[in-house]
Amino acid sequence: MIDFANLKESHKAHKEEIEEAVLRVCRNAQFIMGSEVESLEKELAEFVGGGYAVSCSSGSSALLLALMALGVKVGDEVITTPFTFIATAEMIALLGIKPVFVDISLEDYNLDCDLIEQAITPKTKAILAVSLYGQPPNLEKLEHICKERNLKLILDGAQSFGAEFLGRKDSTFGAIATTSFFPAKPLGCYGDGGAVFTQEESLAKKIASLRLHGEKSRYVHQFVG
Ligand SMILES: *Cc1c(COP(=O)(O)O)cnc(C)c1O
Repeated sequence: MIDFANLKESHKAHKEEIEEAVLRVCRNAQFIMGSEVESLEKELAEFVGGGYAVSCSSGSSALLLALMALGVKVGDEVITTPFTFIATAEMIALLGIKPVFVDISLEDYNLDCDLIEQAITPKTKAILAVSLYGQPPNLEKLEHICKERNLKLILDGAQSFGAEFLGRKDSTFGAIATTSFFPAKPLGCYGDGGAVFTQEESLAKKIASLRLHGEKSRYVHQFVG
């Protein structure tokens, strides 16, 4: 049998570096939001080619943070694909938002951009697209539709970290892009993890605040995070 992701082999390939990093965290005991997290976020933002990266506990939390940061709320509608991992639609529904499914294109198995217009209603606030199996959807078309119809584009890049569209990493498209570091994903971590990407400083600040229970300064909370 061939493993879907050979995590033991990839550990062997980077054994010393990884084990030293794990020990470093144990020794300095900065387990939550420490300096390692800060340098990871800096490297992630550099890797995708700019903007801001805010790390979090999973790809699912990253989707919650994206929807919350954009102010999508109970009663709103978000257009998304039915052909993805459950978390995409689940995180929309968890916030009391209505997922509106638009069928996929048989060319790339991602959202069929030609079917989106007819699904837009006055309640539609965002399009949550997915880069399925590492392949981004037509992000140029999706950005165009969002601009024309005043919608926010969110890209769920849980399966595609590192993928490019028109020479740019897919994490730099949309108002917000997310990814997952679940062990079997393109960049897996040793447990659960995720990240949120944006090019806008104000959004990055809001996402970082929501991640820490809506914190503004220590023990002062401005949002439900
Ligand atoms: C894996 C996955 C998620 C969820 O990521 P977790 O880190 O497991 O929470 C969300 N969307 C897609 C498309 C995924 O494949």
